[in-house]
Amino acid sequence: MVLLLLAGRLAGQALTPALEEWKKEIESGGVPVLLARVEHDAGANTYSLPEGIEGRELFAEYLGQPDFLKQFEQMYGVMVHHKNPRPAYLIMLNMGRAGEWGEYEEAVLAHEFGHAWIKSRKYAAPVYQAGLAGCLAIHTGDIAQHVLIRKELERRGIDQRTFWLETLDKATAKAGGMERPAEQDRCIRVMQARELVDVRLGLEGVDWAGREAYEAMVKRVFPEVEPTVAGIVAWMKRHDMEDAAQHRLALRVVFEHLKALAYGRSKGYIL
Ligand SMILES: [Zn+2]
Repeated sequence: MVLLLLAGRLAGQALTPALEEWKKEIESGGVPVLLARVEHDAGANTYSLPEGIEGRELFAEYLGQPDFLKQFEQMYGVMVHHKNPRPAYLIMLNMGRAGEWGEYEEAVLAHEFGHAWIKSRKYAAPVYQAGLAGCLAIHTGDIAQHVLIRKELERRGIDQRTFWLETLDKATAKAGGMERPAEQDRCIRVMQARELVDVRLGLEGVDWAGREAYEAMVKRVFPEVEPTVAGIVAWMKRHDMEDAAQHRLALRVVFEHLKALAYGRSKGYIL
């Protein structure tokens, strides 16, 4: 798996009108939103950046790192707040997985726009570190930010729920024959806890036929996440993520919950 810079077609950069408008609003804060649809060649397992896109060299900086590329492979898309020398919100879309979102590209992109929008509003965010601490940092930040993103997408009339429900139903089906993950695989449990918090907070009262099957799947494959999720959900329901101070406090509280989940399973581990 490697990034090729020589190849690459010219980019089609079209955005839906709702995203075009949101992009302008975010950029009025002075930081540009740059987008790369990163192409994937499944045969050679190489990624390439389209030619002629703004900030191509910035995207290459990240996608040229093997660790970053390994994470990217697992995602539909990602937003990186690039700081020096000129700040930019870099949104990368993993076109290798485009078949999975099909007609819902707007939903995938809008989610990453949401992360850029929150950055532009200067909410506190956990500091990224390598390894498991980084996994904890990402999912901690996501729990607080996703509350605001869901609300804002609804306000803007951007449908993210249809694709989200499809993704969750697929996850349920895929996990049908899945064994419990290895005990040392801590990040997957943190990720699952984050997802279940999103579901409980974001789909409460929503008519969703797959809910029971999804919850049952999580209970079977990840029984240890339930107390963590229940604790985080109860706390989040009592606090307002739009309030900067409560948002900051959420990062501390959620991090502690997730850390206990990640490290609680091994008495030998000293943080
Ligand atoms: Zn997110």
